[in-house]
Amino acid sequence: MEDFRKTMGLRRRVLVVDDEMVNREILGNILENDYEVSFAENGRQAYEMLLECRLHVSLVLLDLLMPEMDGFELLQLMNSNDDLNNIPVIVMTSEESAEVRSIKLGASDFITKPYDMPEVILARCERIIELYENKSIIRSAEKDDLTGLYTREFFFEYIRKIENFFEDHASDAIVLNIEHFHMINEMYGREVGDAVLRRTGLTMMDLFESQECIGCRTEADTFFFYVNHRDDYTGAFDGLHEELAQISKMPNIRFRIGIYQNVDKHASPEVCFDHAKIACDRIRGDYTRRVAYYSKELSDRELYHERLINDINAGIENKDFVVYFQPKYAIQGVEPRLTSAEALIRWNHPELGMISPGDFIPLFESNGLIQKVDNYVWSEAARQIKAWKEEYDYEIPVSVNVSRIDIYDPELESNLLSILEENGLTPDDLLLEITESAYSENGNSLIEVVESLREKGFKIEMDDFGSGYSSLNMITTIPIDVLKMDMKFIRNMLKDEKSLKLVGLVMDIAKFLNVPVVAEGVEDEKQLITLKDIGCDVIQGYYFSRPVPPAEFAEFLLTEKEKKKKSEEEELRKNRERIEKE
Ligand code: C2E
Ligand code: CA
Ligand code: CA
Repeated sequence: MEDFRKTMGLRRRVLVVDDEMVNREILGNILENDYEVSFAENGRQAYEMLLECRLHVSLVLLDLLMPEMDGFELLQLMNSNDDLNNIPVIVMTSEESAEVRSIKLGASDFITKPYDMPEVILARCERIIELYENKSIIRSAEKDDLTGLYTREFFFEYIRKIENFFEDHASDAIVLNIEHFHMINEMYGREVGDAVLRRTGLTMMDLFESQECIGCRTEADTFFFYVNHRDDYTGAFDGLHEELAQISKMPNIRFRIGIYQNVDKHASPEVCFDHAKIACDRIRGDYTRRVAYYSKELSDRELYHERLINDINAGIENKDFVVYFQPKYAIQGVEPRLTSAEALIRWNHPELGMISPGDFIPLFESNGLIQKVDNYVWSEAARQIKAWKEEYDYEIPVSVNVSRIDIYDPELESNLLSILEENGLTPDDLLLEITESAYSENGNSLIEVVESLREKGFKIEMDDFGSGYSSLNMITTIPIDVLKMDMKFIRNMLKDEKSLKLVGLVMDIAKFLNVPVVAEGVEDEKQLITLKDIGCDVIQGYYFSRPVPPAEFAEFLLTEKEKKKKSEEEELRKNRERIEKE
């Protein structure tokens, strides 16, 4: 702290309270080389000054006998005020008897009048200030043994002190986290882990030396740094990357950094570092970015997400989550025929309005809450299938989305089965869509789960096929029943030759696997005709309908029923004609 203050040209402030001008002058002369000095002529004036700028005063030199408000009274007032009772007071007196009384009132030391040698006075002031500052700071261990950086409590306390002295100074809060640090420990041992932490701390302090950096380690692998503001951090952390690469043979120790620039001086240091941490967490697992900056939008987004997480239970209880249905049509016949539907969730939030799944599914996938939502959707979908069966005597299979997180749930299969049972359905009624990327991420464990589900009779549709990075080898061994082609192929199919070729390729793969292909995102007739020509079996998209609420979807069922009836009648008529001819 002392070093920091010196390099910053920071000086402590001493308040001299004495009614006699000559005393004020003498003390002013003694102190002015080492301290900022303020003066008050009596207790009342001093008290007002203290209330106004208490944080800037490191020490009070107090005369006892003064008009208006004497030293004793001021001591008493200071003592009973929580903001002022930690400012040390040195009493200046010529009477020994006054010493005891002022000690009881909280004075820390005495200077006798007539004044001692200037050096003595200075030494006393310095000692008392130091004592008090240390007393308030060293409540907890001040340094982290491993890195030599400050501990969290000391770090924040320290920032507060700096801020008190240097209010207009622009500063940045930096949070650094080492990704997958536990892996380093597990794979290379604790010693290497410790070395990485130590080197991270040291290197950061070196890199920011010119920026007056103070640092602390908060948790195992998280560091905070408080530095003078700079506009541009381009390349600022390159040195750390190199340093870490050197200390071990580990090819890639990755760190991520969140920066809150120009921190709000009215906010507490804790809040400032919360902000930097939000930025830091934002790029967790993002291999393309090492540094992120805090912004208002980011904070709003974070709050929004918190809100959604908060409201999920009420949403499920109050049925604010609604399941929409989008029809799928078989297109290879004379006219398109409704074959099934996909259940897609929406959140009709009572205050935030309609929220699309793109806004909450990835969030809930990242924290596991998706399981709740998915189970809800499966139940609702099953309930709806049953209701349509009863009301319209129409059996329509519905595909539900199974998130990659659900795969890990040991109860997945039993949950699905009991949902079916409750509604008198079979696995033929509820198809399961699993996105391709889940296959490439989870590999064998997913294949096991899928195989078990298929043994129970469930049909698995591989969703978004072509968006992941499945190897040809994997695709040929994978257990699936339907390929759903990724929407982006369809979108570009008629725009560029390559996409059209890719669509052809997907068709070939499907033929090889002997499974039908569903094309998603079909929006116009041209796309439909092209896909029909290529041999695509089923189509889902705005061309037929957007996802709609159950009541609206019932119209499709009725129309289809009508169609069915007509074609059956037609068939009957033809048969009759044939028989008559014979
Ligand atoms: P997805 O499973 O690939 O679903 C298809 C998405 O494409 C849906 O978006 C659908 O509304 C949209 N779509 C359908 N036809 C067209 C079209 O012709 N043009 C365009 N531009 N879009 C079309 P939605 O409903 O917003 O859902 C987005 C994603 O959210 C879904 O992608 C799925 O990954 C996820 N999702 C939706 N509901 C659930 C759910 O209940 N559980 C889980 N785990 N994920 C869900
Ligand atoms: Ca889907
Ligand atoms: Ca899809």
